Amino acid sequence: MNTTPENTTVPLRAAVAALPAYVPGARVAPGSGAWKLSSNENPYPPLESVREVIAGAAAEVNRYPDMYATDLVGAIAEHVGLAPANVVVGTGSVSVLGHVLQSVVEPGDEVVYAWRSFEAYPIYAAIAGATSVTVPVTADGRHDLTAMAAAVTPRTKVVLVCTPNNPTGPAVRSGELAALLAAVPREVLVVIDEAYLEFVRDPEVPDAVTLLREHPNVVVLRTFSKAYGLAGLRVGYALAPTALATGIRSASTPFGVSGIAQQAALASLAPTAQAELMERVDRLVAERTRVVDALREQGWDLPETQANFVWFGLGDATTDRARQATEAGILVRPFAGDGIRVSIGESEANDAFLKLAATWR
Ligand SMILES: *Cc1c(COP(=O)(O)O)cnc(C)c1O
Repeated sequence: MNTTPENTTVPLRAAVAALPAYVPGARVAPGSGAWKLSSNENPYPPLESVREVIAGAAAEVNRYPDMYATDLVGAIAEHVGLAPANVVVGTGSVSVLGHVLQSVVEPGDEVVYAWRSFEAYPIYAAIAGATSVTVPVTADGRHDLTAMAAAVTPRTKVVLVCTPNNPTGPAVRSGELAALLAAVPREVLVVIDEAYLEFVRDPEVPDAVTLLREHPNVVVLRTFSKAYGLAGLRVGYALAPTALATGIRSASTPFGVSGIAQQAALASLAPTAQAELMERVDRLVAERTRVVDALREQGWDLPETQANFVWFGLGDATTDRARQATEAGILVRPFAGDGIRVSIGESEANDAFLKLAATWR
């Protein structure tokens, strides 16, 4: 029989002992037929061309992958219009964020971010030894960048901007971001997390790479997990000035991104695959418009979403509503006492959700 060693004589770091657990979106039991709208995943299966590359790459897993993901880094640099020296890949942009923070944060430094925002932020800030300073989002779920700039103190090392914001949906506009960058000292790093960039249709929302070219204190985070549909392979990246990118790379897990993930991401950037993937994104954006219009028709007052999810600020009703969703075979992402985030899925899933949402009114 297995034993379960439980106690330890070694204390955890206080910051780690106090960490909130990352709550993943609920899992679908095999054969349950439930719709999974809880993790902002791409509902479409991988492209055939990408699957073939994945299968081929399996033949080489006895070897370590290319540590610096040279081909993928080159393709990303080409894709965004920067140099390979400005690109650092990692096992999802969440872990790249961890490496960014570990590269710049000294113990006790402050990291400023909006709240509610991405739940990985408090976790990675704490692991890096930083103190979190949170600035409430506005009633319509937007970053309050004026208040965030005002929250910067001499101890602030990083400001995180999540645009579009997970889980509320709005994106930050050019003017607001320009004002933030003008207001913060140049020694403060501004990390712009663009995990949902490809879903943005608001012309006032900037592509942060233009800001990175103009400001030496900007880092941009992007991922293959959402629009590119490779969440299960764990690959994301940071774009940063060369000197900063070098530091982030040094802090990264060696050989972190598998050869399979590198090749799948590379294949996804090939022109034909890219076109097919962006057409799928267009389809999801059209579904988003359909879902939001139908919800407004039901009488919901929702924050504007530029991402592949919608936010319901349900407050105390959150846990009950989430349970009803599970019973209806729809997995959503509740944040107890605050609200529910529902991903845009394939149209049948969205139809099922709209039916449920009508009963919530
Ligand atoms: C999903 C998400 C990411 C990316 O996660 P990966 O680690 O790349 O899968 C990053 N930031 C935000 C805000 C997200 O919602």
